[in-house]
Amino acid sequence: MKSAIIMHVDSPLFFQLAGELNLFLQHCPDLKQAELWLFYYQDKPSALPAINLDIGRIELIKANSRYLPEAFLQQLQQLQQQRNVELLLFNGDNLGGELATRLAYRLQGSSCLSVEKVALNDRQLTVDKAAYGNNLNAIFTLKNAPYCLSIARRAARPANAITPPATWFETSTENNTDTGWIENVTLTVQPAQDQSKNADVVLAVGRGISHSLVSKLPDIAKTLGAYLGGSRPVALNGWVDINSMIGVSGARLAPKVCLVAGASGSAAFTAGICDSQFIIAINNDKNARIFTLADVAIVDDLEPVLLELDRLIKSDQLIKSE
Ligand SMILES: Cc1cc2nc3c(=O)[nH]c(=O)nc-3n(C[C@H](O)[C@H](O)[C@H](O)COP(=O)(O)OP(=O)(O)OC[C@H]3O[C@@H](n4cnc5c(N)ncnc54)[C@H](O)[C@@H]3O)c2cc1C
Repeated sequence: MKSAIIMHVDSPLFFQLAGELNLFLQHCPDLKQAELWLFYYQDKPSALPAINLDIGRIELIKANSRYLPEAFLQQLQQLQQQRNVELLLFNGDNLGGELATRLAYRLQGSSCLSVEKVALNDRQLTVDKAAYGNNLNAIFTLKNAPYCLSIARRAARPANAITPPATWFETSTENNTDTGWIENVTLTVQPAQDQSKNADVVLAVGRGISHSLVSKLPDIAKTLGAYLGGSRPVALNGWVDINSMIGVSGARLAPKVCLVAGASGSAAFTAGICDSQFIIAINNDKNARIFTLADVAIVDDLEPVLLELDRLIKSDQLIKSE
C-alpha cells in the first residue's frame, strides 16, 4: 500500500515527534516503505530526523503559513491525488489529529486517531488503539481508502539528526489558500517548554515521602542531576510542582535512569515511566507493584536511602574537586 508520512519542519516538536514515529514503526512490520512529505514555511530544513523506515522519496512542500490547517489541507489534497497515496500517517500532536480527520473527510476516506499499531492484511487495514484511558484496546478495520491516521503519542527520545539529501522533490501545489471560515490568525511563540522530556535522570516520588523530606527534594534532585517529578497525589498535594505530575494524567518520560521513591506502582503512574531504560525503586513494602518493573529493588524506608545517596554523591563530588 503506497504510504506517506506527513510532518512539519517548523514544529518545535519536529525531532521529538519523529522519535515517537520511530517507536510506532517498531510495532508496524507491515509498513516497509513510505514517502516523507515535509511542510516548511520559510527555510528548507538544514537537518532531518532519522526515520526507521525505507523513505523512498522526500517531498518538500512550501506552505504559505507556519500554522494554518486550511492551507495544509488544500496542498495535501492535491498531493494525495498526484501521488496516489492510500495511507497517510500524521503525527500525534493536535495538528496531526486535525489534519487526519479533516483530510479523510475531504477525500471521502477513513480516519482514526492515536493509533498504536497498523496491520495490512490482504489490502485491508487494521489499526489498534487504546480506549478509555488504556482500559480497553480497540481494533478497527477501516473501510474506505485513503486512510488518514494520527499516531499515538508515546514517551520517546527525539530522533537523531541526519544531513538532508542533496536533492529534494519539490511539490508544485497551489497555496493561494482561501482561509474559509478563518478571519485572521495571530501566532505567538511561547517561552521554551520544560525540559522533562529530555531528562536523562528522573527522580519520581510517590505518597511514601515524609513531610520532612518534601523541602529537601529539590536539593536531592539537583545532587542526582535529576528532573524531579511526582505521582498524582504528590503533585496534587503541592509537594512537587503540579506540572511535573507523572503518569497518564501528566508527563510520560523515557529517561536513562528513573529513581522511583515511595510510589506503589499503579498503572496510571507507571504509564509515565515504563519506557525508562533503567528503573530503581525504593519502597518499604516488599510486595509493592513497582518492583515488578524495577531493575533494582530497594526494600527500605526511602528517607535514609535518599539522604545517604545525596550525602555520598556530594562527598564524592567534593573529593573530585580537591
Ligand atoms: C483517571 C485517573 C487518572 C490518574 N492519573 C494518574 C497519574 O497520571 N499519575 C499518578 O501517579 N496517578 C494517577 N492516578 C492515581 C493512581 O491510580 C494512584 O492512586 C496513584 O498513582 C498512587 O500514587 P502513589 O504511588 O504515590 O501513592 P500510593 O499508592 O499511596 O503508594 C505509596 C507507596 O509508598 C510506599 N511507602 C510508604 N511509606 C514509605 C517509606 N517511608 N519508604 C518507602 N516507601 C514507602 C507504600 O508502600 C506505597 O507503596 C490516576 C487515577 C485515576 C482514577
